[in-house]
Amino acid sequence: MTLPWEGNRGAHLKNLADLLSFIIDHEEENGKESEELCVSCQFALASSEVYQRYRVCPQCGFHYSLGARERIALIADKGTFQEMDSHLVSTDPISFSGEASASPYRKDVSQAQKRTGLSEAMVTGTCRIGGARAVVCVLDFGFLGGSMGCVVGEKMARAFERALQQRLPVVAVVASGGARMQEGVLSLMQMAKTVAVANRMQKRGLPFIVVLSNPSTGQVYASFANLGDIIIAEPGALIGFAPLRVMQEATGRPLPSDAHTAEAHLERGMVDMVVERPRLQEVVSTLLDLLETRASLTVREARALSGPARSEEDSAWTRVQLARHKQRPTSEDYIQYIFTKFIELHGDRLYGDDPAIICGLGYLQGKPVVVVGHERGHGPDGVSEHHGGRPYPEGFRKAQRAFRLAAKFRLPVISLVDTPGAYQGLEAEERGMGGAIATTMALMTDLPAPVVAAIIGEGGSEGALALSVADRILMLENAILAPVSPEGAAGLLYRDTGKADVAASYLKLTAQDCKKLGIVDAIVREPAGGAHQQPDEAAKALQRALVRALADLQGRSALVLRSARYRKFRNMGEYSSYFQEAVNREMQALRSFLAHRLVTLRAQIRESRQAAQTARASRAKAKSGAKRTAS
Ligand SMILES: [Zn+2]
Repeated sequence: MTLPWEGNRGAHLKNLADLLSFIIDHEEENGKESEELCVSCQFALASSEVYQRYRVCPQCGFHYSLGARERIALIADKGTFQEMDSHLVSTDPISFSGEASASPYRKDVSQAQKRTGLSEAMVTGTCRIGGARAVVCVLDFGFLGGSMGCVVGEKMARAFERALQQRLPVVAVVASGGARMQEGVLSLMQMAKTVAVANRMQKRGLPFIVVLSNPSTGQVYASFANLGDIIIAEPGALIGFAPLRVMQEATGRPLPSDAHTAEAHLERGMVDMVVERPRLQEVVSTLLDLLETRASLTVREARALSGPARSEEDSAWTRVQLARHKQRPTSEDYIQYIFTKFIELHGDRLYGDDPAIICGLGYLQGKPVVVVGHERGHGPDGVSEHHGGRPYPEGFRKAQRAFRLAAKFRLPVISLVDTPGAYQGLEAEERGMGGAIATTMALMTDLPAPVVAAIIGEGGSEGALALSVADRILMLENAILAPVSPEGAAGLLYRDTGKADVAASYLKLTAQDCKKLGIVDAIVREPAGGAHQQPDEAAKALQRALVRALADLQGRSALVLRSARYRKFRNMGEYSSYFQEAVNREMQALRSFLAHRLVTLRAQIRESRQAAQTARASRAKAKSGAKRTAS
């Protein structure tokens, strides 16, 4: 679906503070007319179908606030929503409505009820989303700022408990300014209550999807809203923990114009994606399907999809050049071809979103899988955008998030390996590169679901290995895997990086070498001249090999998978054919040394016997000579 404002988006969207000052200025200028015009671009909204349906400006894409009922109408399949707990109404738990109160709480609540037609700031219930059953919890900013009082916390907790009881996913849509001051510290405690129930969803392996709309701040933001398996934000939404004013005072300098926006949060790795409202229902329902479907690959497909491996003629250096070829397909190319309905996830929820690693969920021939891969990018701009496929620590942490999702939902993992190595600058060290790589491998080692890795291009040392701890490791015919680059090795061995071709031949880095070393399980044939000559053919071959490997592993229990994976990596370097060859060579050398030694010894023995005989003979001769002289 192409949206009318695409390309325009972002031109007018800054943060909420800018927007509010804009609205106030224009209200003064235009009086009542501003009600009909887009606050961001002055477009006349009344006649727009997009605006009537989605509350989105068709010209600039500004997303207006939605009430809880409007939101449910957009996200739930028609006629499927059944409300829960609508009878729960706020009382005045800390008697905030006393005579001295400037704003009697009971009166505020009753006014909000009249204005919104809701009993409280959250509406909960069950529904179907694109056919999938789910529990939904939707906050309404129009009801006392969508603040989380005792009733909101209670409704949330009950909704989660219903989901746990019936094994349903939860979708929560946030529009909240935070705490409900009128309920004092009891309001604060709702954070712990909602976190505790959300945590049970985590333990039971049930999906929890969060949609952050405008605004998503304060206590809701810092509690259940940040615990979603997937966090989606709406464009331009104000998102963050502290109020902008407080943040500016604490920071002591003006804030950037995009502070607290959905887009800045995406860049900083705090949300998985920013999704336009007209696409929201489709994205949520696809995610629910991906996290819930238990399809399996059939053996018939697996048999039909097997293919032979090929030539060993090309030199190691030729393979290195093919593996690094500028036109060689990257993870993105393969993902596009191999996986359907792929939804990319972003960010490590800690520091940033590293474009050198791409993560997401998609279908491999109808089976939902988690996909993780290095991305080098194409062309000078692409390579610079993805910093050449050299991951930062946040890239590995993003992969860890994907692995945790795979573990929670028992989804198989497909990993595509293609990197010159991990980024080695100072900032990477400062952000914990060593720990990031080690933890990534540790998580892969322990995954309860099948893991298939495919080395599709350059498998550069630790950066490559971090995504290769798999039950099956496939390698494209012209891919390479090495602990150091051929140039680096040539520099060390010959003090001449120009001898990289010679070094390449000693590094045993080709697919054939890695197969002989027992590291790689299967080689995937490439089209003549390399994968870049016929990318679709290369992708088809890789898809076949992935399906075959996965079909072989499916149905194995977590225990079986983990212990087989443990044995595989425990034995690395012991059972390879190269190791056996090396042992045989040494035994041979020892045998011929011993044989040679034996021959020499025999000769020495012979010689010394002869010498002894000669000596005896000459002594006897001397004796008889002496006798003769004496007589
Ligand atoms: Zn507009």
